[in-house]
Amino acid sequence: MLKNQHTYHSLFKSVGVVSLCSLLITPRYLIAAEFEAVEGQYIVKRSPYCASISSPSAANVLDVFPSIGAELWQMEAYTVNSLSTDSCIEYVEPNYIIRLDNTPNDPDFNQLWGLDKISATTAWDIRTESSIIIAVIDTGIDYTHPDLAANMWVNQGEIPNNGIDDDGNGYIDDIYGYDFANGDGEPLDDHFHGTHCAGTIAAIGNNGTGVVGVNWSAKIMALKFFKLDSFGRPSGKISDAISAIEYATSMGAKITSNSWGGGPESQALSDAIQFAQQKGALFIAAAGNKSVNTDRYSHYPSGYDLSNIISVAATDQYDALSEFSNYGATSVDLGAPGTDIYSTVPNGSYGTLSGTSMATPHVAGLAGLLWSHNPSWTYRKVRDKILSSVEPLSSLAGKTVSGGRLNAYKALADGTTPPPQPPGDGKVEAHIEPTTITGSAPFTVYLDGRTSVGQIIQYKWEASIEEMYDCPLWYSSHGDRNKRNH
Ligand code: CA
Repeated sequence: MLKNQHTYHSLFKSVGVVSLCSLLITPRYLIAAEFEAVEGQYIVKRSPYCASISSPSAANVLDVFPSIGAELWQMEAYTVNSLSTDSCIEYVEPNYIIRLDNTPNDPDFNQLWGLDKISATTAWDIRTESSIIIAVIDTGIDYTHPDLAANMWVNQGEIPNNGIDDDGNGYIDDIYGYDFANGDGEPLDDHFHGTHCAGTIAAIGNNGTGVVGVNWSAKIMALKFFKLDSFGRPSGKISDAISAIEYATSMGAKITSNSWGGGPESQALSDAIQFAQQKGALFIAAAGNKSVNTDRYSHYPSGYDLSNIISVAATDQYDALSEFSNYGATSVDLGAPGTDIYSTVPNGSYGTLSGTSMATPHVAGLAGLLWSHNPSWTYRKVRDKILSSVEPLSSLAGKTVSGGRLNAYKALADGTTPPPQPPGDGKVEAHIEPTTITGSAPFTVYLDGRTSVGQIIQYKWEASIEEMYDCPLWYSSHGDRNKRNH
């Protein structure tokens, strides 16, 4: 999301660095009590002028984030208080807990209506595969699912299960991605959310089974940072989200799909997404499911003021804004199908879910298709094309930046691409006028070019006297291809 409202970044630029230290720390520490956070954990960034200063003895460094120059510290609250007057500390913020942006729903619904709605079927006449890496930052992915397995990204520099970091990227046995929640190379989905999102992006197409994603073939990277808490709810930490973004960016993912959010603004998370932006990567983010205007009630990470974020609202089968979806004329970019979305779930199964979580992978999938079709484009051009090619909807006017819903065909087609022909499966529909003719031959009939589908190359005329004429394609001398004479 890119917007012009006042943000933490603009505050940072407009206030002197020295006086900023305490200004930043105080509000962040105060809001900690209002939101869920990991007890005793804080993300700390030192001022670049004091980089050599070590952490206080009362703090343990749990993790480091080279991309944003910050660290995860374990410390007591009184130590945090003492940091509030330390001019060497740029910010301290709690390690917030993050939730998913989906809601379970009735499975008995029109399956895969979303792909029809975004004109994916005509878009597929132009392109079906993504050649770039798309990372799903979520609950993991069932990479053994028959409709996903062949579309998983595989780390070619790593040897499976040898306990060695073969490619030296800091992670052991990271074949399909990584599990940051448990700190191992096994990003299998212990929930269903991530597998569902992955299927919308790229369930295998044309394999005669299950469903199909926006991409028929792709390279999906599984980055797990949610795990189930003691109540069985998926729960993720800001620190692990940052590590996942770092991993995706450094391992070459040009797109991340992020169906999660909530909690307060985090400078550290914003910095991590900005790091991805500097590396030229897109960050597709769910707008959230609270039915609120996020221009007034901010939602993160979708609402950070960064040009590589695309913030996605959800729409339903009737092109209405989904009842649960957040919206915002400056903070939400576009809509995409998010109500009753059918996709893959673990153990070779399928299921229906609703949420801006489900809308987000439709956009991530199209971004992959579009970027693969135009490999020289920058992230900004991919984003601009997606937003400028939406289907304008009254339901999204004034509620999103673009005022429309994702349209895959319009995004992929441009002036140099001919209109797609229907798939070569014999689906041709001719609407003929007049529908009834009486009199002496020859007759003149017309094909209605507005409502007929497909290109007729031969047709057969059956007369009431049961005489049959086989007729080749014929054009009138005026070039009217819809006119046929007999
Ligand atoms: Ca490795």
